[in-house]
Amino acid sequence: DYEAECPPDKEVLGRATWTFLHTMAAYYPDKPNAQEQSTMKSLLSSFSQFYPCGYCAEHLREEMKVDPPKVESRMELAWWMCGMHNKVNEMLGKEIFDCNKLDERWRDGPADGRCD
Ligand code: FAD
Repeated sequence: DYEAECPPDKEVLGRATWTFLHTMAAYYPDKPNAQEQSTMKSLLSSFSQFYPCGYCAEHLREEMKVDPPKVESRMELAWWMCGMHNKVNEMLGKEIFDCNKLDERWRDGPADGRCD
């Protein structure tokens, strides 16, 4: 039987959004051209305007003023995103993620091959 699913709360929305953001960064070009860099900047700026958790979005906009998105390469974007997420983790009392593990977590999977 069909059971109606609930709309996402800010935890479910947050997990889905971080999955999207980190995966997008993990597959961003190593050497993005000027157009790609500019599109990524406007994507993140638009994102921070419309993210449907008002105070999360406001906090993100503030952080982005202090530390603007780094879009010059895949690694720069991925590390910048990792730093943004860690600021939220810190604020919420969650564990700080080791950004050296970004590719393992979001692109390549662990060395034992169980995600292949
Ligand atoms: P999440 O924090 O959602 O993380 C999901 C997975 O990402 C983790 O299991 C881990 O494998 C991986 N991960 C963790 N840290 C990193 C990192 N630094 N880099 C790469 N991967 C990582 N919630 C609030 O209550 N208040 C807020 O102000 C708030 N602001 C937010 C702003 C944004 C832009 C987003 C996307 C979410 C925000 N959230 C906020 C939601 C919050 O960040 C979490 O998503 C939510 O609390 C669920 O947490 P979680 O423990 O499931 O893991």
